Amino acid sequence: MNLILLGPPGAGKGTQAKLLETLYGITQIATGDMLRAEVKAGTPIGKQAQAIMASGALVPDEIIIAMLRSRLTGPDCAAGFILDGFPRTVPQAEALDQMLDQAGLSLDAVIELKVDDAALTDRIAGRFSCAQCGAGYHDEWKTALVPGVCDVCGSHDFVRRADDNRETVAARLVAYHAQTAPILPYYAAQGRFFQVDGMAPMADVTREIEIVLATLPPRDGK
Ligand code: ADP
Ligand code: ZN
Repeated sequence: MNLILLGPPGAGKGTQAKLLETLYGITQIATGDMLRAEVKAGTPIGKQAQAIMASGALVPDEIIIAMLRSRLTGPDCAAGFILDGFPRTVPQAEALDQMLDQAGLSLDAVIELKVDDAALTDRIAGRFSCAQCGAGYHDEWKTALVPGVCDVCGSHDFVRRADDNRETVAARLVAYHAQTAPILPYYAAQGRFFQVDGMAPMADVTREIEIVLATLPPRDGK
C-alpha cells in the first residue's frame, strides 16, 4: 500500500506515519528526517539545507527530488510506503507522479490531516523526542511517565528540533499555505484524496485513517 500524508507542520503526520508503519508493514519516508540526517552527517546536501531549514523555508525541489528518487524503490518499500513531508510543492507532486509511473507503482490514498493553524504553534513549540528511539513527547500534553526517562526504550537522551521554535513555525506555516496547500486540489482532482480531522485525539485520527484505507474504492480496471 502506497500512501501520502499531507498537512501543515505539527498536523501529526510523523506520529500517524509511525503507527501506520506498524499497522500495515509499510515504510515511512520522511524527507524532513532524511534532511536532518544529511545535516548531521555534514554531507553537501546537508550543508545546503541547514540554513534553509533553520529559516523555515523549503529546500529546493531539485535536491528533494534527487534525494527521494532511489528511496521509493528500495527493498524496505516492497510492501509499500507512507510519504511524510513530501511532496510539498506542485513540481514535487508532478515529479513524484513521474517516478511512480517509471517504477510501475501507484498511490492508494492521499490523506490530508486537517488542523487549525492556531493549534499548530503550541503543538510544535512544546514538542521533543527520544534521541534513541524517536518516540514523541510534548511539554504539556505528553510528558514521560518518569521525568527524563523515555517510556518506550528507557533512554535518558531527548532532542528538540532546531526549527521547532515560535519564529520558525510562523515561517513554516507561511511556506505551507503558499507552496504546499496548492497540491491539495492537484490530488483532489486525481481522486483517492481523503480528509481526516487532525484535531481529534491521536487514536481517533488513526482509526479514521484505518476506515479510509479499509473502504478504498476499487482501482480502474481491477
Ligand atoms: P514539519 O512537517 O514539521 O515542518 P519536516 O521534518 O517535514 O517538518 O520538515 C522540516 C524542514 O525540512 C522543512 O521546513 C523544510 O525546510 C525541509 N523539507 C522537508 N521536506 C521538504 C520537501 N519535500 N521540500 C522542501 N523542503 C523540505
Ligand atoms: Zn526512547
